[in-house]
Amino acid sequence: MSEWNKLIPKPTSTFIRVRCLKCGNEQLLYSHATNKVTCNVCGATLAEPTGGKAKLKAEKLATLE
Ligand SMILES: [Zn+2]
Repeated sequence: MSEWNKLIPKPTSTFIRVRCLKCGNEQLLYSHATNKVTCNVCGATLAEPTGGKAKLKAEKLATLE
């Protein structure tokens, strides 16, 4: 709903396509993820929250606007 749009400030953040270093699975994650992001396939950590830009633990393939 539109309420969500109000809660999310105009972001400088983006979505990043990454590849899991362990199993090669590709998935999207939020560049400013506030929770640990894990691989959907093998459960490896792909990104960890830092309070700002998430720290990537996976291979970055592309950034999506
Ligand atoms: Zn994986």
